[in-house]
Amino acid sequence: MARVYNFSAGPSTLPEPVLKKAASELLEYGSSGQSVMEMSHRSKVYEEIISECESLLRQTMNIPDNYKVLFLQGGASSQFTMVPMNLLTKTGKADYMVTGQFSKKAYGEAKRYGEINLVASSDDKNFSYIPELDKSKCNPNADYFHICFNNTIYGTKFHYIPDTGSVPLVADLSSCILSEPIDVSKFGLIYAGAQKNMAPAGLTVVIVREDLIGTTMDKTPTMYDYKLMADNDSMYNTPPTYTIYICKMVLEWIRDEIGGLEKMKAHNEKKAKILYDYLDQSQLFQSPVAAPYRSMMNVTFVTGNADLDKEFCSEADKRGFVNIKGHRSVGGMRASIYNAMPIEGVEKLVQFMAEFENAHK
Ligand SMILES: *Cc1c(COP(=O)(O)O)cnc(C)c1O
Repeated sequence: MARVYNFSAGPSTLPEPVLKKAASELLEYGSSGQSVMEMSHRSKVYEEIISECESLLRQTMNIPDNYKVLFLQGGASSQFTMVPMNLLTKTGKADYMVTGQFSKKAYGEAKRYGEINLVASSDDKNFSYIPELDKSKCNPNADYFHICFNNTIYGTKFHYIPDTGSVPLVADLSSCILSEPIDVSKFGLIYAGAQKNMAPAGLTVVIVREDLIGTTMDKTPTMYDYKLMADNDSMYNTPPTYTIYICKMVLEWIRDEIGGLEKMKAHNEKKAKILYDYLDQSQLFQSPVAAPYRSMMNVTFVTGNADLDKEFCSEADKRGFVNIKGHRSVGGMRASIYNAMPIEGVEKLVQFMAEFENAHK
């Protein structure tokens, strides 16, 4: 068996030790006589798995006690709706920054539910940067302020946490959660689709300050009520049981093999530096993103020639560097180098890029 280096933006590469452990436990988990896939979510053996997953996430991210951790479904995209339905309930007004396709979608969705103020957008330069926060544009009475912290498609990331005063900051962390330490107490709500850096698809993690939940808009679907989900320990209905089990093992991998989020960050910085250093001296490939705004997780690059980009992707694929094609809305290339991508994967990719560059001088 030859595993490729998978640079997919999501679902994405998972730590090999986690996959091996899952394989070894596939038919029987512990001495339960059954696969985790087959277990009742209400069984004692499964309850241990989900509660261990939550407690590991709390330890790893240092989540304060006054925050709820929810294991939901529906993807990060459902949060574009769930956030306003639950939080846009005092003044009915919210501030949004639009720095890419996902925050644009979130903004569009929120506009269906209230009065949404576009504080800043980087649409003018194809989302290649992160605007500074102009406080005079913010509404001090907003119910919340929404950002997407890492822009998966464009390869940009906030280089600061917006200071929104007493207005709760809501952030989509789908493509950067667990990549480095983050001060959860600066946020009112964090959400993430798990399929980038936590687990396979099917799980959406929400971390929310307790005092922000409890009111919903009229006719909010029962399944979209954070409070109900919190009161039922994410077990109002069947949670994505197997994905949560993998998430638990990914968190164990971060704790035991990496050594926590500080170490995870150092590892990720090293990988990103290898790639950006190469891009910055290359005559063929360029990064469309200026240094301060560069994502550590999604590295976008172009040759400036669409045919050559295509050739590069197809050659890369043959050499075992897969899913490197940029998002259809941007073109070019994108190497997503999430937690589970080993340093060798990035080193070998850069070697291959240098070879390709030499052959196309
Ligand atoms: C992938 C992604 C989404 C969409 O996630 P789904 O789980 O597919 O709904 C939203 N926001 C960001 C930042 C993403 O990377």
